[in-house]
Amino acid sequence: MTKGHLFVMSAASGAGKTTLKDLVLPEFPQLRYSISCTTRKPRTGEVNGVHYYFKTPEEFKAMIAAGQLAEWNEVHGNFYGTPRKFIEDTLAQGNSMFFDLDVFGKVNFDKIYSDAIGILVLPPSLEVLERRLRDRGTDSDEVIRLRLENSRKEMEFAQSQGKYEHTIVNDDLAQAAELLRDIFRRHF
Ligand code: 5GP
Repeated sequence: MTKGHLFVMSAASGAGKTTLKDLVLPEFPQLRYSISCTTRKPRTGEVNGVHYYFKTPEEFKAMIAAGQLAEWNEVHGNFYGTPRKFIEDTLAQGNSMFFDLDVFGKVNFDKIYSDAIGILVLPPSLEVLERRLRDRGTDSDEVIRLRLENSRKEMEFAQSQGKYEHTIVNDDLAQAAELLRDIFRRHF
């Protein structure tokens, strides 16, 4: 049986990771998507068991206590974690997986799965990110300032302490998507 690969994608906030992931992942059905648990409330259109397993804080704490999460972290005031059993079952079948983890969660993930392949998605620069947020016109100055500060911290942490074999600077979506396809193709 072939050995499955674990791909972990992380990003600095606002880098466009979700758009990139939603564009490319459907082209690689052999990659099993790891559905995380979260205590965050579902957004419009999000389905339990598809986008996330939505949990109460009590349910989430019970999962931690029972050792059911391979890693977990608090991101922007909510808890997120990766179910362990799905990883074990999928690897036992020889299949590959894709994880969407924040930069801090990725470090904990590496402690268990040290050969996971890290993909970091970055905005071209903080200036470009600020312009994108301002052009969108949905956030107040205060929210924009906070997002930029979070993004800066995530970038700094990922680049100094993270283990990422690949970095994609998301300047142009089509180009970024092609880079991501290339990374997957190299492993299949
Ligand atoms: P969102 O609420 O926008 O879906 O996700 C917020 C952040 O949580 C993103 O940076 C995403 O990568 C991260 N995230 C999603 N699932 C997990 C998980 O299972 N573990 C960790 N550590 N981060 C996660």
